[in-house]
This record gives sequence, C-alpha cells and structure tokens, in this order.
Amino acid sequence: MTSQMEIPINQAADIIVSARKVVVFTGAGVSTESGIPDFRSPGGIWTKYQPILFQDFMSSEEMRRESWRRGKETYHLFADVEPNPAHRAVVELERLGKLDCVITQNIDNLHQKAGSSPDLVIELHGTAMYVLCMECGKRWPRAEIQKWLEEGVEIPYCDECGGIMKSATVSFGQAMPEKETMEAQLRSQRAEVFIVVGSSLVVYPAAHMPMVAKQSGAKLIIINLAETSFDMYADVLIRGKAGDVMQRLVERVKTKVGTKR
Ligand code: NAD
Repeated sequence: MTSQMEIPINQAADIIVSARKVVVFTGAGVSTESGIPDFRSPGGIWTKYQPILFQDFMSSEEMRRESWRRGKETYHLFADVEPNPAHRAVVELERLGKLDCVITQNIDNLHQKAGSSPDLVIELHGTAMYVLCMECGKRWPRAEIQKWLEEGVEIPYCDECGGIMKSATVSFGQAMPEKETMEAQLRSQRAEVFIVVGSSLVVYPAAHMPMVAKQSGAKLIIINLAETSFDMYADVLIRGKAGDVMQRLVERVKTKVGTKR
C-alpha cells in the first residue's frame, strides 16, 4: 500500500469503528477485479453495446432478438465469475456486526456468492440470475433459459401464458423496483457511515443515495479508481482498487476493535 493511502484508510477505519450502521453502496467497479467489465471505464461495456431501452425491448421483436443474442453471448461473463477480496471484505464487516446493509447497483449476485446474507443485500437494478415473464410473473433461473437459447430459441416466450420474457434486471427506461428503492432510501437516511465502492455515481436514482445519506448526517467514504462528481462531499476519499483498499480497510478495523493482534 502506498503511504498516500495509509492515512485515508486509517481515517476510514476510525469512522467505521465508532459506528454501528454502516451502509455499503456498490457499483460495477466492485466487480471488475472478478472479471466483469464496468460500463464507463475504457474497454467497458458501453464501448461495445448501445443499451436497449425497456420500451424498445417491449415493443419490438427485433430488439428482443438482439437483446437475447447479446444475453446468450455474455451469459458466461456473469455465470462463471467468483467474488473478489472487495466482496469478501463486505462479508467481514457483516461478521464484525458493523454492516447495516449493502445497496448494490450490480446484477451479478457476487455479494451473495461471497457470503453476504441475502436479506442484507438490496439489489437496486435487479438480478441477472433470473428471467421473468412480463405478463404472468413466472420466474426461471437464468441458467435454464441459457439452455433454451443454446438449443436454438432466439426469443423465448413464457411456457405458461406466452408472455414476453425478460431478464430480471432493470433496463434503461424501466421503472425501478419500488420496494428496493424505498428500502435503500430509508437505510441511506439512517446510515451513520455510507461507503461508496466502485461507482461513477452517474446513474440515477441510485446515485442519489450517497447524498441522502450525507444530508442526513452520515459520514461519506468514497473508494473509487476514477473521480466521481461526489468527491467534494466525501469525508474520506480513497482513490484505489476496491479489492486492495477494502481488504486493508477491514483488516485495519479488525485491528482497532481488537479481534486481531
Ligand atoms: P460505472 O461503470 O458507471 O462506474 C464504475 C466505476 O468504478 C468507475 O468510476 C471506475 O473508475 C470504477 N472502478 C472500476 N474498477 C474499479 C476497481 N477495481 N476498484 C475501484 N473502482 C473501480 O458503474 P456504476 O456506477 O455501477 O453504474 C453503471 C450501471 O451498470 C449500474 O447501474 C449497474 O447496474 C450496471 N452494471 C453492472 C455490472 C455488474 O453487475 N457487475 C457491470 C456493469 C454495469
């Protein structure tokens, strides 16, 4: 660790040690070290695909065909990845009794795969692990639908009602899940400490959460490789890799609370 990072990591650890309700807010940057590219870094997903808007997916068969073609191609990107030290550090915070919840913009299930309690993970943008019928609500594991696609189905339709099937992720133009959004707002308001890890903080309304937390009195810690538009509001700003920084941060917390000699 560079000496530059030593000071903010120590400051962040002091803040966490003196708090109980720590909310961790994660974006695509927490999973890049697991091999899933983010959206906005060079080489990220934006540079390869234009997003398909929800309205276009629902109204156009051609768009659904294209969406499932991409889904078939990128499936293994999500299915075969493992959590990294950043996800595991969040699990450690939970074990230390410090974690209130994880609010994630990610759809990759890696917090749960690392061992975070599923009921403490709020998925703001849904999950890539399931597919939903938009008519009757039937739900399938994404792995099952991958088999259909690999057997030659180009656009899957519900085997119960014939309805349009869509990944259980939130597309651009699609309404945010009401329960998760309200829960995230509430937890952000009540947070004593709010840690942003690996998010450019440009996707709204998710990116609104750090401000809700800060305005409600939380200490704001931002851990990100690139600048974010919220950096000026951070009590502690750590420009570094999520895996490295989170692991060191949690080790420091453990030392301070005396669980590690
Ligand atoms: P983003 O791509 O806008 O920003 C990611 C940020 O993480 C960037 O600022 C980048 O500098 C930083 N970063 C990249 N690697 C890092 C690392 N190793 N350590 C620390 N920081 C790192 O992502 P976003 O803010 O999450 O918003 C994009 C949207 O894309 C979200 O809504 C999310 O749902 C979706 N998305 C999810 C996944 C996933 O589930 N893994 C992947 C790509 C995009």
